[in-house]
Amino acid sequence: HIVSDGWSMGVLIREVVALYTAFSAHHLSPLPELPIQYADYAVWQREWLQGEALDAEVAFWREQLAGAPQAIDLPADRTRPPVHGSAGHHLRFTLPKSLVAQIHSLARQEGATLYMALLAAFEVQIHRYTRLADFLIGSPVANRQHRELEDLIGFFVNTLVLRARVPGDLSLPDLLAQVRETTLAAFGRQDLPFEKLVQSTEVARDTSRSPLFQILFVLQNAPAQTLALPDLTLEVLEPESGTSKFDLTLSMMETAEGLHGFLEYSTDLFDATTAARMLGHFRNLLEELATDHRRHISELSMLGIAERRELLAAWNDTRTEIPALSFHRLFDLQVRISPDAPAVVGNGTVLTYQDLNHQANQLARHLRELGAGPEVRVGIALERSPAMLTALLGTLKSGAAYVPLDPSHPRERLAMILADARPAVLLTGERLQGELPVPEGCRVVCLDGAWDEGGLLAAEASEDLAEDASLESPESLAYVIFTSGSTGKPKGVQITHGALVNFLFSMQRAPGLGASDVLVAVTTVSFDIAALELFLPLLVGARIELAGREEVSDGALLAARIASSEATALQATPAGWRMLLDAGWPGDPGFKALCGGEALTPDLAERLLPLVGSLWNVYGPTETTIWSAAGRVEPVSAAVAAPTGSIPIGPAIANTTLYVLDQYFDPAAVGVMGDLFIGGSGLSRGYLGSPEMTADRFVPDPFAGKAARGARLYRTGDLARRRGDGTIDFLGRADHQIKIRGYRIEPDEIAAVLAKHPGVRETVVVARKSAIGDPRLVAYLIPGDPAPAFDDLRGFLRDKLPAYMLPTDYVMLESFPLNPSGKVDRRALPAPEAAVAADRELALPETPTEETLVAVWEQVLGRTGIGIHDNFFELGGHSLLAPQVISRVEQTFQIRLPLRTFFESPTISATALNIDLLLLEEIEALTEEEAAEMGVSVV
Ligand code: AMP
Ligand code: MG
Repeated sequence: HIVSDGWSMGVLIREVVALYTAFSAHHLSPLPELPIQYADYAVWQREWLQGEALDAEVAFWREQLAGAPQAIDLPADRTRPPVHGSAGHHLRFTLPKSLVAQIHSLARQEGATLYMALLAAFEVQIHRYTRLADFLIGSPVANRQHRELEDLIGFFVNTLVLRARVPGDLSLPDLLAQVRETTLAAFGRQDLPFEKLVQSTEVARDTSRSPLFQILFVLQNAPAQTLALPDLTLEVLEPESGTSKFDLTLSMMETAEGLHGFLEYSTDLFDATTAARMLGHFRNLLEELATDHRRHISELSMLGIAERRELLAAWNDTRTEIPALSFHRLFDLQVRISPDAPAVVGNGTVLTYQDLNHQANQLARHLRELGAGPEVRVGIALERSPAMLTALLGTLKSGAAYVPLDPSHPRERLAMILADARPAVLLTGERLQGELPVPEGCRVVCLDGAWDEGGLLAAEASEDLAEDASLESPESLAYVIFTSGSTGKPKGVQITHGALVNFLFSMQRAPGLGASDVLVAVTTVSFDIAALELFLPLLVGARIELAGREEVSDGALLAARIASSEATALQATPAGWRMLLDAGWPGDPGFKALCGGEALTPDLAERLLPLVGSLWNVYGPTETTIWSAAGRVEPVSAAVAAPTGSIPIGPAIANTTLYVLDQYFDPAAVGVMGDLFIGGSGLSRGYLGSPEMTADRFVPDPFAGKAARGARLYRTGDLARRRGDGTIDFLGRADHQIKIRGYRIEPDEIAAVLAKHPGVRETVVVARKSAIGDPRLVAYLIPGDPAPAFDDLRGFLRDKLPAYMLPTDYVMLESFPLNPSGKVDRRALPAPEAAVAADRELALPETPTEETLVAVWEQVLGRTGIGIHDNFFELGGHSLLAPQVISRVEQTFQIRLPLRTFFESPTISATALNIDLLLLEEIEALTEEEAAEMGVSVV
């Protein structure tokens, strides 16, 4: 190819045929002498293409390509290697004559050529694969613009860079008109060689891809030569070069039988099945075009019938019969089966199924007297204890829905939630009672001692409440969970009994739970996944081991509890599992491990798999009831996960559908990234008191059959893609929502709250990846006059937001970097370290202990710039990192600092003092001999 091109091949064949025919008949060469040679052309081109002529060409192309993205990432099977290689394959195909004739004719109707129509279809295909509205495609031109060049063998071909613009939902005639204009303009400027173009325009140099474009489109129009030589039978062999010049080359040539073509693809990126699928999509698009080319891009589908059926139906075949009963009715049934089995153990108390049921019945009766019933809400603010579980059950039995409140959240936030939830009753304990901002008209019931003799509920009857259809309906509300809202206010997700029961039934089968199981419950009730821990065991006669507050945040204590209770199952977030593993939990070959709430990384899966009997990756938003997908993690899938950095999710649980849809609400093809939508029985009714927000996220389900009129899909905001085997890769978020240690956070909620501070003019909160993995919340702000003090901002937010939502860094800027559309360019915001260091005087360590601790903190927090009076938790530390400080202190100083001491005064100066005091105590306790042995002298 260095010395010739496609056209030259035609010339070569023609001349070989002419010469062979002539010589075999003993004739002289019939070929005329060439008027010029390639060298003449080269000289001419060099003379012509300089000065003004060159400048004009360059100017045209510069303008043509200005601002165009120069990288396209097609949905690939593997991540792009850092240096692009040339390994490849190609697949041949033929498009039938009839189809080609139709494309020809529609092109003609629109004043375009076959080339333009094929290119337009290919652009639509790439647009739908990538969602890009503006991209570049290469296309070769023969570049023999003078009669004298036609018979030369040499490298004349040039590669033009065509700008594809597929903005929004264009009609196909408009797209064709636009393609025609672009290609005609480009063909008119084909003299500037590609290599000159690369030299003279701003090309992002990137070793991982070819410059300017990575996809080539070819329609060969070099005159096809038939090889026919006297007395010889000839056959065209098409060698497999094993190479690919670009990521993808779609090449076609018109022949008498239709369009012959091949798709050449980089094997670094694509598998043969993927390439074949792409060819299928191209052909489907052309067929759609041929049927009716006056449609819009959104109305075309690339998918074949079988593919569509697989994506929509086959991979969502989850229909399962579920009893139409409320959760508490199912619980009543279990009580009859195992009345004396322990139901819940916690705080030194054991409640059997019978006890739990009796107490819940008593509470339910009392609640009914206070007006509880279907659709009425009951707030629950209780410490972790069996009474908390009784309160949940009692509420459900009264027919009401519970609204869990985390007593550790600040008053202002609880007040906001309570104002929205408007509970009729608030169940709480004596210690918390005074601190809660009880809304007007809400009755407060203190449950301390309520069941004891002479207590509030002692006189209530304890048998099951009379059957009452209004109390058993699967339609009625079971709970409302509040989750972070980007508008600055948490939003209440309403879940019905039907959704809850559907979920629990599905979980009972897979991962599965039975009467002999013991599940350690670790999750706070204000997080929806707690319902699995507290309710699933109660449907199967299993035992709940309710971990206490200390146990849930201390891996060693939790491991001890798992061992002492002979637990068989635990559900936790990835952070929770890490905490347990870091504490040296030895595992148990019969153990069932559920991990969810955040992406499960392959490294965590690889640590867990050898320690447990089974590991399950569970996925789901609060809005679709706890988990919508549950997949067992096999050792092989841990390795398979590498390209996305997380273990795939799926399959969908019972009566649940998962759809990955493209921007036009069509199923995204296998491998193509789209938005993940969830449908089926788990769907929430929507957000409490927010019909607009509900309408925005819960959209009509276009795929539900007629029988399911009114069915909706929940738009999760998650980005995902289907693999060829139906499993789903989680690819991150389409919005700013983040997860920190399983907590769902809208950084915009934090910003909305912070913006209310009088010293803040504008603010944006982002999550930044820190050196140690966990993202860190950073608040950037444009201060008012006078500028607020950092401590003031911290205090302000601490009164309004739960601890996990507090930014660890505050950075003041004069203005925010903006992107071309005028929005804050979040990626261009400076790293907090730089800003903080410049802004603050660091209190430096003064003792050797302090010095050591600074190094320990730096390692644990993954940051520098730490002063000895800084608060560990305000620098990004959290309850799971604190134990790491303790264990490093233990390694270094051979003493065990109590975790509580650290929590009480989490600064380096205080910790150093405590360490020194402990060391001193130890030294003082030494006998003289011991001291001498250790080389210590007591002064
Ligand atoms: P939440 O409403 O708190 O359950 O948060 C739901 C969100 O958490 C989902 O939309 C995902 O972004 C994320 N998520 C939950 N489980 C998983 C998982 N197993 N893998 C990846 N992301 C997850
Ligand atoms: Mg969830």
